[in-house]
Formats: sequence, C-alpha cells, structure tokens
Amino acid sequence: MKLCFYNDEFKSIKEMSLPVSDLMIQRGVGVFDTIRTYRKRPHALSIHLKRLEESAKSIGIELPVGKKRLAEIIREGIDRMEGEVQMRVYVTGGDVFAGGIFPHPRYFIIFEPLEKAPKEDYVNGVVLHPIDMERPFPHIKSIFYLPAYIGRRQDKEAMEALYCPAGEITESSSSSFFMVIDGKIVTAPTERVLDGVMRQIVIKLAREAGLAVEMRCPLLSEVPRAQEAFITGSIKEILPVRRIGSQRISQVNGPISQYLQHLYAQRIEDYLE
Ligand SMILES: *Cc1c(COP(=O)(O)O)cnc(C)c1O
Repeated sequence: MKLCFYNDEFKSIKEMSLPVSDLMIQRGVGVFDTIRTYRKRPHALSIHLKRLEESAKSIGIELPVGKKRLAEIIREGIDRMEGEVQMRVYVTGGDVFAGGIFPHPRYFIIFEPLEKAPKEDYVNGVVLHPIDMERPFPHIKSIFYLPAYIGRRQDKEAMEALYCPAGEITESSSSSFFMVIDGKIVTAPTERVLDGVMRQIVIKLAREAGLAVEMRCPLLSEVPRAQEAFITGSIKEILPVRRIGSQRISQVNGPISQYLQHLYAQRIEDYLE
C-alpha cells in the first residue's frame, strides 16, 4: 500500500493528483527530501526537514506548512502504514511565479513500504556510470533528474549516474560518493554537493573512529588506485561500488566500508525521533 498526504488528507496514492497548472509539472520547479524509519521511528527527521526548507528557500519558495506540522503528518502517515516506511516530502512551485518567488507553493508527502537495495548489492557492489557534468544547483535536492536518467541509460548495469565535471567526482544521482585512497576516505567538499544526512553521519563516525577524511573531490583518474568506493543515502545507508564506467574497484565492500557499516548500525538509535 502506498499513501499520499495532500490537501489535508491521506489517500491511496492512486487517487491523488496534482493540478496540471502546477509549475512542478510544467517547468520542473520543485524540491523534495527522503526520510526513512527504523523500528517505526523516523530517522534524522529534523535534519531532513531543515534541509527541505533550505532547498525550497534557495529557489524562492517558503515552506507552505510549518516543520512541526510536517513532522506530525509524517508520524501519522507512519502509523497508518504497515512495517517500515520511506517517505518523500515534495514542495512544488505552485501555479504562480512572480517577483522572483513562487508565492503559492503546494506540498505533498508519499509514504511507501521501505524498499532497500537487494542484499547482493551490499556484497557484490553496484555500478555507477560517470557523466561529465555537475549536478545542477548541487545544494538543492531538486526533482530534476534528467541528466541522471540519460546518463544511466548508457550502462544497463548502472544503478546511478556519477557526476564528474572535468574529471572531478562530486556525487551520484541520489547519493553521496566516497572513495578510499591510500587508506584515506576522500569525498567532495560540502560546497560542491548536496549535504547528505548519511554523508554527515559517515564523516562524523569516521573521524570519531580516528580514520582520516579528506574533503576534496576524488578524481576519475584516481579510480584505478582506489582501494574501496561506496555511496551513501538515507535508504541505501552505505552501499559498496564495484565498477565506475569501465574501471573496477579493487576491493568491494572492503574493511573500511564494513567498519563504517558496523559503526553506523551501532548509532542508528541516536538519530531516531
Ligand atoms: C538524496 C541525495 C543524497 C543523499 O542524501 P541523504 O540525506 O544522505 O539521504 C545525496 N546526493 C544527492 C544528489 C541526493 O539527491
């Protein structure tokens, strides 16, 4: 069962529709954020809602609903669903663009049963397809995924496209990217990417455990000497990478990936709200 909250009511997703006048449909104006539950409790809810607010603000949209009310709706939706839940909260441009802002945005929330990546992916790793561009407006979690879809079509095995402007690896379609080089964990600086919640947690856990984290874009040319690579996101957690384009990663789900997965599992509780 998939549920949607829109216009003050919960309905089956099949019964929900957005007016065709909305700029989300007409011009791709919209932002969103994805949140998941563990033991029926939302993970890092306030961090996600804050990021949603910031994504919206940077394109000229004030949240049409308070963060406190959003959190209440999310809790109600979780209660209405069976089992663990993944939610996407969307804020749209609405029907009007005036004076550089979108004064009448809409919002809706989709609730689905949690769908994790297949277990094999955590063992065998996933494939990323590099594309020679930066994700547009990297600080914004926007609904615009066209470059990612077009990129991924070129490699049938690819799970996501990997944004690599001028050979510098920033992030993938919907995940943060990490590569282990000379024993150091290398990941793009916050200025260049979406500040993923899992990314923040992984960096913090790694540093607390005494692992070196280098905040610079890993280079595509460094892939052949990378020991490990992985992507992170709230639903996928820490997912090993086995291949980037035609280049294989030497160790899939190696010791650092496994250590971080272990550290993360121990600290999930801290972020449940
Ligand atoms: C959603 C997303 C992530 C992951 O963010 P989390 O907060 O960790 O779920 C990373 N990069 C991009 C481009 C994304 O869209």
